Amino acid sequence: MSDNEIRTRLAPSPTGDPHVGTAYQALFDYVWARKNGGRFILRIEDTDRGRSTRESEDAIIRSLKWLGLEWDEGPDVGGPFGPYRQSERLDIYQEHVRMLIAEGHAYPCFCSRERLAEVREERQRTGAGSGYDRKCRDIPAEEALRRVEAGEEFTVRMKVPLEGKCRFTDLLRGEIEKDWASIDDQVILKADGFPTYHLAVVVDDHLMRITHIIRGEEWINSVPKHVLLYDYFGWEPPVFCHLPLLRNSDRSKLSKRKNPVSIDWYRKTGILPEALLNFLGMMGWHLSDEKEKFSVADMMENFQLEDVTLGGPVFDLDKLKWLNGRYIREDFTTEELMDRLVEWGLNRDHFRRILEICRGRMTSLSDWGDLTGHFFTGRIQYETGQLLMKDLDETGTCEVLQIVLWELEAIPVFSRDPIYSMFRELSEKLGMKLRDLTAPLYVAVTGREVSTPLFDTMEILGGDVTRMRIRNAMDALGGLSGKQLKRLERRYVSGGTDEREAD
Ligand code: GLU
Repeated sequence: MSDNEIRTRLAPSPTGDPHVGTAYQALFDYVWARKNGGRFILRIEDTDRGRSTRESEDAIIRSLKWLGLEWDEGPDVGGPFGPYRQSERLDIYQEHVRMLIAEGHAYPCFCSRERLAEVREERQRTGAGSGYDRKCRDIPAEEALRRVEAGEEFTVRMKVPLEGKCRFTDLLRGEIEKDWASIDDQVILKADGFPTYHLAVVVDDHLMRITHIIRGEEWINSVPKHVLLYDYFGWEPPVFCHLPLLRNSDRSKLSKRKNPVSIDWYRKTGILPEALLNFLGMMGWHLSDEKEKFSVADMMENFQLEDVTLGGPVFDLDKLKWLNGRYIREDFTTEELMDRLVEWGLNRDHFRRILEICRGRMTSLSDWGDLTGHFFTGRIQYETGQLLMKDLDETGTCEVLQIVLWELEAIPVFSRDPIYSMFRELSEKLGMKLRDLTAPLYVAVTGREVSTPLFDTMEILGGDVTRMRIRNAMDALGGLSGKQLKRLERRYVSGGTDEREAD
């Protein structure tokens, strides 16, 4: 590579369905690198051991490929600065942590989870600036070393200045200032020897020679910790460019409660990659006022990073559908569109999976259309009466559906058997008959009370479409208010986050 090569990266955490926010960042990173003859790098940030899965990584890679945003270096294609999966770089992080400790920029922390929780609560109550009281910061280095060698459990924290201001520049926002006093001595190495996001991202962006960090605005608050680490290591920080946050129509941050966020959902409901990229491009940039339809090539030709617009772009599904319709009508011959349809769902693999579960209900080949419509449709119109759970009203039903959603989200591999076990266990936990629990789910997922076998149907539709349909069914029933949801969450989901594990 030449010394002034532009290098951008996408650094997704493989902890769930591939997110449209990831595609949005990827597009801008990809366009900026390619426009400048540079390189676009994919790095998998799998340091959250509890939540990262290979399935999620595969799904992210598949969805980015479907979009056509190919990378030059990454876990699957290799490259000169690998490995490109953070879990394979632990010794690199540990070496860098040792350097920071040796220079007096970081220290081992022996506080227990219980102590940290108590301190955090107390400090929140009294309005102290940060969550940790820095108890271990003053332990003399020799004593700390002795305790580490004696096998005491510890994390490592970076030393953050106690006063003064952090200043850094965001390409789109100019200089940003933050009081150091409001920032914690961040954990950089967890008790299990894994780095946290903050350390790993800085070390990797530097070692992978990233020149431009183009990512979502939600990361801007992390930058002070990052610039401090660059400073401690004596490295030049890259250019920071935070794209505007994608928003729901009520201007809140784009969320799965209000919009589909999985890239797979868009693919499976028949959005074309060209249209989705065009739409995501429009979220932060305009080709010109008259021309809303543009390709990645148009963007590459005309885009300048400084031209990203900062108004909070609203994710408007109707606009996306309108755009998608234009591509369908204007950009393909009938033959080409047939190819797209075959690729999308009218192919033997898909037919085979569906036929296997519905042939038992067929008396004639022409039953196919009536029996399988729910595999080929976007949104289902509900008869709300059919969605109600036995003995429950709308709110009660929504609460159970919400619990089902949480449980479905927690299934790492979305296939028939784990889905079935989940429902069986949940029906016991809720004291409901399995049949009563699943009845409204047939309606939510297929639109009918009697349809193809539920758990197989869910597997074929996939987690994102299944969950979105359940959410749509909840909306049809009136949904849950934020308050109701919080209350349910407190009742149903246990515990808060643990700082020693949180990134
Ligand atoms: N792993 C972070 C994520 O999940 C990366 C954030 C960044 O781009 O620095 O998005």
